[in-house]
Amino acid sequence: MTKPILVVGAGPAGLAATHALAAVGQPSILVEKEDTLGGAPILSGYARLVPSDEWAKDAIGRMVERSVQSPLVDVREGTRITEFSGQPGNFSAKLSSGDQIEVGSAVLCTGFTHFDSVNKPEWGFGTYEDVVTTTQVEQMISSGKGVRCPSDGRKPSRVAILLCVGSRDRQIGREWCSKICCTVSSNIAMEIREELPDCHVYIYYMDIRTFGLYETKYYWRSQEEFKVKYIKSRIAEVTSDGERLIVKGEDTLVKRPITIPFDMVVHAIGMDPNVDNKNLAEVFGIDLEVNGFIDRGNSYGNMGETSRPGVFVAGAATGPETIDDSISQATAAAMAALAQVHTPDAAAAG
Ligand SMILES: Cc1cc2nc3c(=O)[nH]c(=O)nc-3n(C[C@H](O)[C@H](O)[C@H](O)COP(=O)(O)OP(=O)(O)OC[C@H]3O[C@@H](n4cnc5c(N)ncnc54)[C@H](O)[C@@H]3O)c2cc1C
Ligand code: SF4
Repeated sequence: MTKPILVVGAGPAGLAATHALAAVGQPSILVEKEDTLGGAPILSGYARLVPSDEWAKDAIGRMVERSVQSPLVDVREGTRITEFSGQPGNFSAKLSSGDQIEVGSAVLCTGFTHFDSVNKPEWGFGTYEDVVTTTQVEQMISSGKGVRCPSDGRKPSRVAILLCVGSRDRQIGREWCSKICCTVSSNIAMEIREELPDCHVYIYYMDIRTFGLYETKYYWRSQEEFKVKYIKSRIAEVTSDGERLIVKGEDTLVKRPITIPFDMVVHAIGMDPNVDNKNLAEVFGIDLEVNGFIDRGNSYGNMGETSRPGVFVAGAATGPETIDDSISQATAAAMAALAQVHTPDAAAAG
């Protein structure tokens, strides 16, 4: 009988991998450290996703249901891998629950960790209650409570969204662009304007990276239809005058200092490497790339290979990725892992 394939992490990538395997009749074991499945969109309570506009709980909830209900997917929540040994086609893994499982190959879909804004203290997070993150605003919207200032529950009449918080910032060791936060922020800005039509929403940016087709649907639409204002700027600090938050910086188009008061400031936080990556690298015997994400072979001749034959990787575990791309990568990695189980020699020969 074919050995099952181990999939670690039940976010969009892991759920897509198990679905792809089940679709071709291949059993898998899905190991998730949290007690809830769905990855960041569910664990962090995202609201409407870009670009589908679907609520995260519906779109990703369907993916969860599909895997949970499949007789070919053995789901283990609240579990980690503590040991992993063997060869392609014939691996043995020990689970934190004490179980030992035999698997043919493995796909790591262990995702990312949200940037913690306390690492950017000059921008006010942790000092002022009304400085929040994009995930907090997503939660305000998805909970149905609406966008409110945490300090006193009032509806904000002026909101600033600061882009690239924890991304593209060499001073704090994060050079990468997190890819999706420009688009997510434009979308959040439109959602705020829709809920609170009298609220002025400003987006402070270095460059706008609403890549591909997102330029029309998010960048231009947010300005033309929703009157969101964009300021190309360098932000110095976020302070308070006792009543309102004050964003100080430089307008880099006109090269003048700007100081503008707001009720709420939103940090568009980036995607850090998963805090578990060092441990995962040790347990699975794989390499990390220079920033600490899981190293992946090039995609011309490979489908999600890591430095260890028989162990594959997909999604935001490899660096900032969108949900769509995480799903595509996971589907490809699942097929590579399947080839390893059925024809290990041919798969090893490339
Ligand atoms: C604020 C914000 C909003 C976003 N909104 C969108 C959007 O609207 N549209 C979009 O396309 N993208 C969006 N993204 C990006 C999106 O979150 C990622 O593309 C997506 O979550 C990647 O899926 P994944 O499965 O690779 O990783 P994750 O979603 O991070 O899932 C990884 C899973 O692995 C589990 N795990 C981690 N380590 C271990 C371990 N050691 N053992 C077992 N399990 C483990 C985790 O608990 C988690 O369940 C947003 C990102 C941010 C920061
Ligand atoms: S997507 Fe936009 S906000 Fe996010 S890191 Fe890149 S440039 Fe900055």
